[in-house]
Amino acid sequence: MKKQFKAESKRLLDLMIHSIYTNKDIFLRELISNASDALDKRYFLALSDDKVKPYTSELAIQIQVDKDHRTLTIVDTGIGMMQDELENNLGTIAKSGSLDFKQKNTDENIDIIGQFGVGFYSAFMVAKKITVESRSPFEETAYCWQSEGEDGYTIKPILKEEIGTKVILELKEDSEEENYSEYLDSYKIQQLVSKYSDYIHYPIKMDITTEKTKEDSEEKEIIIETKTLNSMVPLWKRNKKEITEEEYNNFYMNKFTDWNKPAKVIHYNIEGNISYNALLFIPSAVPYNFYSSEYQSGLQLYSKGVFIKDKAHELVPEYFRFVKGLVDSNDLNLNISREILQQDRQMKLLEKSIEKKIKNTLEDLLKHDRSQYEAFFDNFGLQLKYGIYQDYGMHAETLKDLILFKSSYQDQYTTLKEYISRLKENQEQIYYVAGHDVETLKKLPQMEQLLDKGYEVLYLLDSVDEFALNILRMYDGKAFKSVQQGELDLQSEEEKQANKEKIEENKDLLSAIQEAIKEQVKEVKISSRLKSHPVCLVADEGLSIEMEKVLKQNPEAKDIQATKILEINPNHQLFETLQKVHQNNPELIKDYAEVLYDQALLIEGLPIKDPIRYANKVCQLMIDANK
Ligand code: ADP
Repeated sequence: MKKQFKAESKRLLDLMIHSIYTNKDIFLRELISNASDALDKRYFLALSDDKVKPYTSELAIQIQVDKDHRTLTIVDTGIGMMQDELENNLGTIAKSGSLDFKQKNTDENIDIIGQFGVGFYSAFMVAKKITVESRSPFEETAYCWQSEGEDGYTIKPILKEEIGTKVILELKEDSEEENYSEYLDSYKIQQLVSKYSDYIHYPIKMDITTEKTKEDSEEKEIIIETKTLNSMVPLWKRNKKEITEEEYNNFYMNKFTDWNKPAKVIHYNIEGNISYNALLFIPSAVPYNFYSSEYQSGLQLYSKGVFIKDKAHELVPEYFRFVKGLVDSNDLNLNISREILQQDRQMKLLEKSIEKKIKNTLEDLLKHDRSQYEAFFDNFGLQLKYGIYQDYGMHAETLKDLILFKSSYQDQYTTLKEYISRLKENQEQIYYVAGHDVETLKKLPQMEQLLDKGYEVLYLLDSVDEFALNILRMYDGKAFKSVQQGELDLQSEEEKQANKEKIEENKDLLSAIQEAIKEQVKEVKISSRLKSHPVCLVADEGLSIEMEKVLKQNPEAKDIQATKILEINPNHQLFETLQKVHQNNPELIKDYAEVLYDQALLIEGLPIKDPIRYANKVCQLMIDANK
């Protein structure tokens, strides 16, 4: 009976069968890498399970070509699949995320394949019919899965002695545009294996037929030799000097299914407390699911060249979770189970050492290739800033010199260290302003005087920024100071004196305004930070207005409030108007106060409570002004 593919798989299949993807070659690498994974699993399970053990043949992959039947066959002696595994593994797509992505990017047929590595299904790019014969050590019977693509698949029992899997591809007919017969050419296969699968640490064997003329006569003889096509030396064990950039890139893109070259390759070898080889990569683009729970961080772990564990997240700290790659150590005991491994002291040593290496690499990049570092930071800087905030600031020390902020100094990225190097004489604080975009922040009333006086201000554009700075509290002995909070202390002694007098003279006016909006603000003040704007809202020390916005996104915290202060510019024309109104028409002050408060909210990007009331009041003021 024919079974149908699950809906998602069907769509992906469709994509493969009618693929316009030019690099069809990758199907072979996908099948070989599946075979290699299956061999890894068998090797690992055999350490503790005798059923898996008795190898009747070596752990290897074999490629067979049959020109007459137009078949290409990949045989492995790996772990094989039981009936329901055949059903589940080959009837559905594990990575459903790829299809979500596809739906959002309907024109990008090409990209999806490279980006997600669709594995087994890619074989449908070249095959019109696929047969998978497989035998698992955990089931008596072997099974055969067969499909011609869209119209479903069948599974039936077969006789098969060997544990392992055999994937038989019946190649499509050649057409004017496409040549599939090339995959029957042993030279082409050798080329593909050496390009994409050279480092696979099981032999990939093939019978190569050559025709030779006999030495002593004209007669030709056909020689069949079994050749191992791959060198089997893992890339990370090879000498750095002999590895080309292309080899690194290919390795990364294949193994970690990314269609972009890595931004940075970190290949090193450490001998000491713990000895290991590592080959790490910093991606050049943010993985599509990086900020979702679907993204799994971690490095592959090998022991003496043998795969032990995928995505060992305990090997990289959370704030470096964007790093991909692998670690191969001779010091880990293979017989210990995966659970014990997690607590292994050796694992802790590994983590510390890897963390240090990543940190040094980033510092180096920052120092020697600023533009590349900034590109990296655009991708993963957010993770570093979260890192500062996480675990009560435990990692702040490690990360504080790796973070960048946009700043009013030439509107560029700056490190905190660079900011400090440009401090004005007697400047005691590091100023920052928080919001969503630089253009809006620049125009904020609170910024005018600071910029005028030549102070540099950091723009905090991500919602985590202010929380991170709150954890750091200081850098190099200077405290962080929000330009939207508390007192700024920018005034000269004379200005201070003048302000004091203004406060004295206008006591009644200020308290009348305060009375009108006392539910909303803690205080109404004569401002020392405003220059050409009439009013602004600032927060008291403690929670800032931006933090209030962030916290309010959580429904449980919707009542959270920053303590607000309304500041009025005594040197603005409006101030005179207020004085007049207060003298001649004191009951009107209430309306003025409400309108000014609402305006200050709008400038901060906060919602006003009653927009209709606000609009009506502004209208009324316009009418009154022209009576
Ligand atoms: P991926 O390898 O990325 O998980 P695939 O579509 O290539 O996705 O394969 C799906 C699953 O089928 C694999 O995860 C594996 O469990 C199983 N599988 C594929 N090929 C083999 C094989 N040669 N031997 C054993 N299991 C296999």
